[in-house]
Amino acid sequence: MPVAESPVALKEICHWIGGSLVPGSAANVGVLWDPATGKQQGKVHFASEADVDLAIATAKTAFSDWRTSTLSRRSEILFRLRELVDANRRHIAELITSEHGKTIADAMGEVARGLENIEFACGIPTLLKGGMSEHASRGVDVYQLKQPLGVVAGITPFNFPAMVPMWMFANAIACGNCFILKPSEKDPSVSLFLAELLKRAGLPDGVFSVIQGDKVAVNCLLNHPDVKAISFVGSTPIAKYIYETATRNGKRVQALGGAKNHMLVLPDADLNMAADAAVSAAYGSAGERCMAISVVVAVGNVADPLIQAIKERVARIKVGPGSEASSEMGPLISPEHQQKVLSYIDGAPKEGAAVVLDGRHQDSIPSEGFFVGPCLLDQVQPGMRCYDDEIFGPVLSVVRTATYQQALQLINQNPFGNGTAIFTRDGGAARQFQADVEVGMVGINVPIPVPMAYYSFGGWKASLFGDLHMYGPEGIQFYTRAKVVTSRWPDPSTSKVDLGFPQVR
Ligand code: NAD
Repeated sequence: MPVAESPVALKEICHWIGGSLVPGSAANVGVLWDPATGKQQGKVHFASEADVDLAIATAKTAFSDWRTSTLSRRSEILFRLRELVDANRRHIAELITSEHGKTIADAMGEVARGLENIEFACGIPTLLKGGMSEHASRGVDVYQLKQPLGVVAGITPFNFPAMVPMWMFANAIACGNCFILKPSEKDPSVSLFLAELLKRAGLPDGVFSVIQGDKVAVNCLLNHPDVKAISFVGSTPIAKYIYETATRNGKRVQALGGAKNHMLVLPDADLNMAADAAVSAAYGSAGERCMAISVVVAVGNVADPLIQAIKERVARIKVGPGSEASSEMGPLISPEHQQKVLSYIDGAPKEGAAVVLDGRHQDSIPSEGFFVGPCLLDQVQPGMRCYDDEIFGPVLSVVRTATYQQALQLINQNPFGNGTAIFTRDGGAARQFQADVEVGMVGINVPIPVPMAYYSFGGWKASLFGDLHMYGPEGIQFYTRAKVVTSRWPDPSTSKVDLGFPQVR
């Protein structure tokens, strides 16, 4: 276990409230690791209740003006933000890599996918158009307004410290809300840089705030009457807690949880393509993606040749610090998480699984930092911990089934329903799969089917609590309240009392 001390000066991470950095008042401080070296690189000042109250009060004050800002002004600010994020892609990626550990190339991909959401929100004048019906009754028109909710909050996970906040805040502020971000305490610096870019883009102070912290800050947001909606992305137990607590307090909630994503490989699939996809989707970002493939379901006689093809590819993966250009897979986020992932490999043989590739003992893996090499488990079954739990590390399990029906049943019986993929050359089988599978995002020969920003992202079952998916059209719906106006401008001389229920005349 590494020790939380370092001879070099530690970064101090604090809050962003009212358009500037605020030190915060709590004594509670978290350790910020450098996952590639295993050394502490900073301290994160966790917000007290008073800090969160200040952020909410500041946002509430800013809302009174921001809610009536013109659509073209909002769009202009978002366009400028788009340019600023684009110009700073590399810097954002380096911040991500230094605190999360993923490779620079992977972090650049994260920024690109986040940027899509800002681009989508640039179209806010069109997105906020309500419907209008002239002559709903004689001399009566009906139209719909989409109004902002007020102060809304986003609570985000460590694995996408730039993209997931962008999933939320771009649409939230475009709709006229004031947004408070509580990023993961494990890689919080990107959130402050994004706050700075928003200010440079011309966003008024108080419309976007960042509070660092843990459950103290989260609970304040969940319980504060001035916070109208909560967007959450993280693990399933916390998502469930967030959903239950915030809905009990009368808030609108979308809480995205964990995952166990299956990739079904039919006997007619191109095995080289399937192996490339399985390796990329299982070990990219060291498996710390909610859309990572963690289970390959090999149908019929596919398993042995597929495992062979996967082994050949894994042997060529270069594991190392994310900042080195040659690295393809970086470390895990923290020492605790590293130990947790290793425990699944330790336990797998006792449960009856076979460890085909053992990431605990690979000479090429750096000895410092929170590295675990790529692991491959075979003969995995439901009921084993390595199957039932979301491991969130570079561990790919192979489940063998005799038929497509058994494979489908396995996926549908899994409590999670975030993403899934089918690999086949049979269009009919793929079409049947997309119709029958009980999962929110489906890939056909695509292993990580993260929807584009003009669709919406979200799983089913224990992968999402709430009714609306995140970003895209459902994001606009989440961050607005509809109001329908029925309007009449009659000649006053025709006015009369009528106690009947209004109907079309
Ligand atoms: P996490 O649930 O530990 O933390 C998420 C957020 O909740 C963080 O901001 C954290 O500070 C806060 N939090 C943690 N414990 C809390 C508590 N007891 N009370 C209140 N707040 C608390 O998740 P993580 O480890 O940061 O991220 C990994 C998880 O996120 C995985 O399960 C992954 O599948 C999931 N994830 C899901 C999606 C999705 O779209 N469904 C996307 C990314 C990540």
